[in-house]
Amino acid sequence: MVYPSHSMPPAGIYIHIPFCKSRCSYCDFATGLYESNLAERYVQALVVDLSTTRIEELSSSVDTIYFGGGTPSMLSPSQLERILSAVNNRFQVDPNAEVTIEINPGSVTESALKSFRQLGINRASFGAQTFNDDDLARLGRSHSTLDTFRTFEYLRAAGFRNISFDLIAGLPGQTMLQWQENVERSLELKPEHLSFYLLEVHQNTPLAQHIERGIQPKPDDDLAAEMYAWMLERACDIGYEHYEISNLCLPGFESRHNKKYWTGDAYYGFGCSAHSFDGRSLRWANERDVARYVEAIEKSQTPIVEETQLSASDLRAEAVFLGMRLLRGVDIREYHKLFGVDLRVEHNEDLNRFYEAGLIEFEGDVLRLTRAGALMSNEVFAALA
Ligand code: SF4
Repeated sequence: MVYPSHSMPPAGIYIHIPFCKSRCSYCDFATGLYESNLAERYVQALVVDLSTTRIEELSSSVDTIYFGGGTPSMLSPSQLERILSAVNNRFQVDPNAEVTIEINPGSVTESALKSFRQLGINRASFGAQTFNDDDLARLGRSHSTLDTFRTFEYLRAAGFRNISFDLIAGLPGQTMLQWQENVERSLELKPEHLSFYLLEVHQNTPLAQHIERGIQPKPDDDLAAEMYAWMLERACDIGYEHYEISNLCLPGFESRHNKKYWTGDAYYGFGCSAHSFDGRSLRWANERDVARYVEAIEKSQTPIVEETQLSASDLRAEAVFLGMRLLRGVDIREYHKLFGVDLRVEHNEDLNRFYEAGLIEFEGDVLRLTRAGALMSNEVFAALA
């Protein structure tokens, strides 16, 4: 976390693009179907939002930009260029900034990817999810495994040398063998980074209804946990580093942008549903609905609908449950210096219990999750935060 005594490191910029080709059955993100007129109005609104945002009291230097969604790769290179120009006009962007775009297989041509590279986009977060076509169809994904291989080839041909794969474990009916095949097929492609998620069934999604009506089986949480453990072991065996609960990378390829969320650096979100943090104690969130976000900007109103001033105890809790997401852990002496609290004294009993259960370990003053602890992180965080 960053606290008042720290100098402000560069911030990250998050830009939400809320358009997709179709709606996946498990999705509860703020996104809708792509519609070119609305997308154009939205891009214009983003440019205005970026150009008029108040940054006087904020750090104006930026070293990461992240286009998330939704499917940002559905925007044209010229739309992305306008957004990036607005970022560059308003912020001091490090020439070596990490600039990421989320891409769905089949959503983009090789020539568009080449244009993205020319705009300075140097990292792709690639929504492969699974290499099983039946699962892809059940999830309502708009791509096939063939699209995944083809788009991956386009990415490499366009010069992307930093690619992250998203995989989802614990799909309804998914067997361990199928999961292992998924992981192997991903690893064969040698992406620099892997993010993996356990499927969450959100209320009011088509998937939740299918499970309720018995059309699809309920995900098996124990099996999903075994899948998680298997993947960690397999990927670490061949040189990937497990640096965050859900993330692995080849050495030197940690997500610089996402690390800001876990270390308390500032990040500024633009677009509907985007969240921001000032790197000290203030969080704010934009209007979630696309049309309302656009209308607010068009009427010169603020799109911010929520502001939260974190208390000292909120900041302390976040320092633990965000900091410990990183497997490098939390420095207890540093924590004591910042908050005047000794975690070892305050949580003596919990720490002993977790240590004996093999969920945490200490190296000098550093407290961190073990691999087994990463699986049970919610329980650990609930007790320590
Ligand atoms: S591609 Fe991603 S954001 Fe779009 S509908 Fe599917 S899960 Fe949601």
